[in-house]
Amino acid sequence: MGRGTVVVGGGQAGIQVALELRRRGERGRITVVGEEPGDPYQRPPLSKEFLDDGYDAGRLALRTAEFYREAGIDLLTGERVVDTGDGVLVTDQGRKLPYDRLALATGAAPRRLAVPGADLGGIHHLRGLADARLLREELVPARRVVVVGGGFVGLEVAAAARARGKEVTVVEAAERLLGRSVAPVVSDFYRRAHARRGTTVRLASSVTGFDGRSGRATGVLLGDGSRLPADLILVGVGAVPRTGLAERLGLEVDGGIVVDACSRTGRPGVVAAGDCTVRPHPRPGGGRIRLESVPNALAQAGAAAASLLGREEPDTSVPWFWSHQGDLRLQIAGLSAGYDRCVVRGTPDEEQFSVLYYRQGELLAVDAVNRPADYMAVRRALTVGAHIPADAAGAEVPLKTLFCERTAV
Ligand SMILES: Cc1cc2nc3c(=O)[nH]c(=O)nc-3n(C[C@H](O)[C@H](O)[C@H](O)COP(=O)(O)OP(=O)(O)OC[C@H]3O[C@@H](n4cnc5c(N)ncnc54)[C@H](O)[C@@H]3O)c2cc1C
Repeated sequence: MGRGTVVVGGGQAGIQVALELRRRGERGRITVVGEEPGDPYQRPPLSKEFLDDGYDAGRLALRTAEFYREAGIDLLTGERVVDTGDGVLVTDQGRKLPYDRLALATGAAPRRLAVPGADLGGIHHLRGLADARLLREELVPARRVVVVGGGFVGLEVAAAARARGKEVTVVEAAERLLGRSVAPVVSDFYRRAHARRGTTVRLASSVTGFDGRSGRATGVLLGDGSRLPADLILVGVGAVPRTGLAERLGLEVDGGIVVDACSRTGRPGVVAAGDCTVRPHPRPGGGRIRLESVPNALAQAGAAAASLLGREEPDTSVPWFWSHQGDLRLQIAGLSAGYDRCVVRGTPDEEQFSVLYYRQGELLAVDAVNRPADYMAVRRALTVGAHIPADAAGAEVPLKTLFCERTAV
């Protein structure tokens, strides 16, 4: 028997690579090494229901310990891979892990603000369970919460903090919320929906620093000279892919570990999956894209496992994503970047609507807020290659009744 497969990273993608290898009949040794202690877990609840009192962390587990045992997957947790030689990884505990095949699933780390005071206590970043535990604990006594960054994680935490009766202010540097991901109509909806629930949203506001007392932050300083007093601050300004090991291995890195649709790196026997990667855009000619979502991690992991077994199973799935901000349930299917037309269905003020995105008449994506049928219909249409004409989509009929073949424009 050879040295087997080592997966670096015990997150959503890493665990899935191991499971998919076994599912495809791999009988050799599989070791997953992850630096976080404890059983591998899912991250999405950390910015949502986990912040409620009484949420049991046990519910986050991806699988039970018996499951891994029975599947013959060796889990090494609480151990970080710090170096790689020729076919051998080295952990921070000095353990050597030889491998024939390697999967990198190292995820991403929260981006930090390079401003004075950024290291003060009481300033939180949210990536892992340890971060979420500390955030939840410090939320209890906090009265004034400032969230820096109006992206998905920031808005989810803002909703959770507001639901716990905190005074919440969201500070966003751009002119609108979620600006990189959704159309202005959706951004505007979220601004108003959060305001209706009592959250203050400050757009076009850059953070220039934090001030504090006795090592703990007490305020957020803004570019216009104003100061927001705060008992707790969450900085949610995006995540940076963890590519250090890939660089040491000499793999191509360009805003993420570069992989193809089969999750292959440039080196035979080495694959990568999840938040640490950049992959081909699903639209031909679309360049590369880095997707940070559970569905992407799982899909890339399947392709990666197949590649390690010498099979070509490119990931052609339609990207999808969700974000639950309190009772506002956003579901996204497809990728809307590059759209030239939007069709809005339903009424944003009633908090049930969807936006369909088109480019040159071609359906690209949907954002659906509390409107799962629209999300499902568009995801299905994109999956089976059906079209939903923009001119018909605004009508209040089920989208699935509008499926047709696209005629050339
Ligand atoms: C708060 C939060 C909320 C989210 N909400 C949603 C959501 O609602 N919907 C959605 O689709 N997605 C959501 N996401 C994104 C989703 O969780 C990620 O896309 C997904 O977890 C990516 O999985 P991954 O395995 O690539 O990375 P990760 O889950 O980050 O796992 C990577 C693991 O590798 C470990 N690691 C890194 N380097 C080493 C090393 N050298 N040695 C050993 N171990 C190492 C890390 O410690 C980590 O445990 C959310 C993310 C966060 C942080």
